[in-house]
Amino acid sequence: MTTRATRPLVMGNWKMNLDFVEALHLVQEIGVVLHHQPLEHTDLVVAPPFVDLRTVCSIVESEQIPVGVGAQHVSQFESGAHTGEVSASMLRRLGVTWVIVGHSERRTHYAMSDEVVAATLAAALRAGMNAVLCVGEDEERRRGGEHQSFVGAQLASALSGLSPAARSVVTVAYEPLWAIGTGVSASIEEIAEMGTFVRATLDDLGATGSRILYGGSVNEDNAGDIASVRSIDGFLVGGASLRAASFLAIGRACDDCYAGKR
Ligand code: PEP
Repeated sequence: MTTRATRPLVMGNWKMNLDFVEALHLVQEIGVVLHHQPLEHTDLVVAPPFVDLRTVCSIVESEQIPVGVGAQHVSQFESGAHTGEVSASMLRRLGVTWVIVGHSERRTHYAMSDEVVAATLAAALRAGMNAVLCVGEDEERRRGGEHQSFVGAQLASALSGLSPAARSVVTVAYEPLWAIGTGVSASIEEIAEMGTFVRATLDDLGATGSRILYGGSVNEDNAGDIASVRSIDGFLVGGASLRAASFLAIGRACDDCYAGKR
């Protein structure tokens, strides 16, 4: 049984799924359930594709749905000749208050380097956004026993340009690449080990207030056990965030855990 000082956070990363009509339906469904059975302790955020953000922000505001809205990526630049990019201030203007920075799919498929991750994180914070910084090792590094050194270096690099105060508002999502989208999450022992390691590293870096999320094949069946890991303050959820029932069940597992009901 775990009691926590930090409010858990569950963020749904919809990736490149759901057009704006489908997004509208999903967020409305989430809203109907939450209005009847609100979560007491857990913050929920949805991160739809860019083209859905305006619709989702409007419905969240007009129907007072208790979820935050996030983007899955943001430019490191403020404006100008950056075809295909979207700036943090443009997102803010829409009412988007969260952003995922350095997701492994951006790092792997779009060559997002540690330097660009650091610049993007700084740009998001400058614009007053809440950032979820993703870190995590691939299978090869895990097999080679390099998971801690690799994740430690990712954290140090991403936070290097920030003041101690800015570091502490960053939420960190530990997402081992080998668990993302595979249907097999990391084990409780692996999550506990890395959660403790990330917390110690953040303390060393002066980021004492950061929330730590776990991501990688979280679903309604494993969320309760993972949520009870002391160092974990919630989840970044991919596939299971595309259905209201599973996303909300994961949120409720965090809520129950926070309230010490488990
Ligand atoms: C993710 O992409 O951040 C993720 C955790 O995906 P999934 O939950 O589908 O493994």
